[in-house]
Amino acid sequence: MEIKKMYIDGQWVLGSSGKTRNIINPATEEVLAAVTEGNADDVKLAAQAASRAFYDDGWRESKARVRAELLLRLADKLEESAEDFARLETLNNGKPISEARYDVADAVNQFRYYAGLATKPHGQVFDVPDDVQSIVVTEAVGVAAIITPWNYPLVMATQKIAAAIAAGCTVIVKPASVTPLTTIRLFELIDELEFPKGVLNLVIGPGSAIGNELSENPLIDKISFTGGTETGVVIAQKAAPTMKRLSLELGGKSPLVVFDDADFDVAVEYALFAIFANQGQVCSAGSRLILQETMYGRFVEELLKQVKKIKIGPGIEEHTLMGPLVSEEQRKTVESYVEIGLNEGATLLCGGKRIEGRGYFFEPTIFTDTTPDMRIVQEEIFGPVLVIQKFRAEEEAIRLANDTKFGLAGAVFTGDSARAMRVSRKIRAGIFWINTYHNTYNEAPWGGFKMSGIGRDLGTYGFQQFLEPKQINVKLHVSPAGWLPR
Ligand code: NAD
Repeated sequence: MEIKKMYIDGQWVLGSSGKTRNIINPATEEVLAAVTEGNADDVKLAAQAASRAFYDDGWRESKARVRAELLLRLADKLEESAEDFARLETLNNGKPISEARYDVADAVNQFRYYAGLATKPHGQVFDVPDDVQSIVVTEAVGVAAIITPWNYPLVMATQKIAAAIAAGCTVIVKPASVTPLTTIRLFELIDELEFPKGVLNLVIGPGSAIGNELSENPLIDKISFTGGTETGVVIAQKAAPTMKRLSLELGGKSPLVVFDDADFDVAVEYALFAIFANQGQVCSAGSRLILQETMYGRFVEELLKQVKKIKIGPGIEEHTLMGPLVSEEQRKTVESYVEIGLNEGATLLCGGKRIEGRGYFFEPTIFTDTTPDMRIVQEEIFGPVLVIQKFRAEEEAIRLANDTKFGLAGAVFTGDSARAMRVSRKIRAGIFWINTYHNTYNEAPWGGFKMSGIGRDLGTYGFQQFLEPKQINVKLHVSPAGWLPR
């Protein structure tokens, strides 16, 4: 089997460790590909190449129009092979093919969106005293490291790459160890375009060795990370001595609040979609369902009925709604949380078990009779596990919704628009939905409050994260400062 390589300074190279890793199809447990594994030495080489490309080879002076053109061509190439990318994403990650197709279309749009943004006006002019004109220009932050998780391997990489290149940064991408295939394939497309050597680099390997070097290397100016909160904390600590700019998109335990005046059937379907789409491996999954007491029993009964309609199977089969979890390791984590929930005294309404046979499948799982202090209510499980909480009045719903360390997303279902607005303003989260769930748009900022992260991806906010503002003050009539006595 051919070993897939890393891409450093415009060359496909094997990692310095000499090791390879088999990439597994989580639906069949078969080996899909073998990839090289890098270590800190490879990161050093990538950082040197990216730094040289930025400072010495002129990428920092590159014109926005040139960068936009490259991004547009990359978008076209990706679109031409969209179905191949979707299939590869599904084979590597396990997600249903319909979701993978959506992801690829999103990635294409991200390149086009940021190509457009690159050439738009940036900067400000201030009317200030002292016969001075104060101008703010923006400059690329420098060398940006992009570290991505395994749940949306392609779009997490493309949303950051597109914004970083549009801003004029050079880039080092590190995909999650278990799901590097669509990112490697993206670099094959990048290799066909005229990006100067060293502008875009790809390093592959374990989070610890590679991630630590990316966080500490003094040639790297910025880290744009999406992943778990614990990893985000480690990166922030390691990046502090070199004062790297940080954007951290981290975990969540997002509440979905349903009032008794909501459209009942709509709320039931969204409650299931919110947690079980992508097997619950979504940072913004609606993993806590907070139900009004007055319709609690009826709602739970209906959930139990509807959950049986979820078709579980290999993601590559057209009508699958839930594929396998990404790895056996992830399945064991989910299993351990079911155990924790049972030990804490919650009631298992349905699911809770692995599905025997090939592939890392797990049943959609729902817990009732939970209390706010339980670990299954407080911690991100990152799998198909829903916990249900109960409330009487609006204030209690808000209190429960806010009662975790996370603040990524949230939703309210109600027929009362004033209440919807009130609740949406009181729940501390960076992303909020009213009578819907999971819709995301490349135009709008994505990220969390509290322990769900720092900064935002996507939209103009996602672009700003790769820029430094610089103020330039210009004296309009050259004249003495008047500081020294004449
Ligand atoms: P993870 O934190 O284990 O890994 C994410 C990436 O970080 C991987 O590439 C990994 O190899 C790398 N990494 C691991 N240790 C590192 C270290 N010490 N230094 C630098 N990099 C390191 O996360 P995961 O399991 O791949 O993804 C799941 C998590 O990602 C969940 O918590 C989920 O909520 C979060 N997530 C957040 C968002 C968001 O937008 N907020 C989106 C998707 C996923």
